[in-house]
Amino acid sequence: MSNRANRSHDHIHAHCVTDALAAADAVCAARGARLTPLRRRVLELVWADHAPVGAYTLLDELKAGGHPAAPPTVYRALDFLMEHGLVHRLASLNAYIGCISPGQRHVHQHLICRACRSVTEITDQSIATAAEDAGRRLGFCIEGQVVELSGLCATCAAHGAERQTLDMTGLLR
Ligand SMILES: [Zn+2]
Ligand SMILES: [Zn+2]
Ligand SMILES: [Zn+2]
Repeated sequence: MSNRANRSHDHIHAHCVTDALAAADAVCAARGARLTPLRRRVLELVWADHAPVGAYTLLDELKAGGHPAAPPTVYRALDFLMEHGLVHRLASLNAYIGCISPGQRHVHQHLICRACRSVTEITDQSIATAAEDAGRRLGFCIEGQVVELSGLCATCAAHGAERQTLDMTGLLR
């Protein structure tokens, strides 16, 4: 089992996992792509949380679940999932996160909380367009956009002040 902390207290996360797997089945069926048991299991593990996960954590979790796999196998499974728009790779963290609009062509940006490591995907066309326009003004043709924004999520920002006080009084140590 995963020892990753689950940061999904504000909703029933099992629904996210079920929806993600159902969407993956549909996307792969529509494209004639084979979602093998291993690929499906890797996707399920990526969706274990709304936080990014590294390939080596996935390897450990596969092993712990009785499905040991070699690193290249896991990387190939991740490549497959990325190719079909089911997961995104976060370059700044060298980690993976499930996509909220699986199988659909979309612009995406990720908000990464530096305190709890939760990641929220947004699909804001105006950000993508602003970047394209800025590039065009310089004669630069943008072919890919990796937009990863770091900061504090709403929950961590709200608890920030309270936490600081506790830190100062040593109650958290
Ligand atoms: Zn969830
Ligand atoms: Zn996405
Ligand atoms: Zn946070």
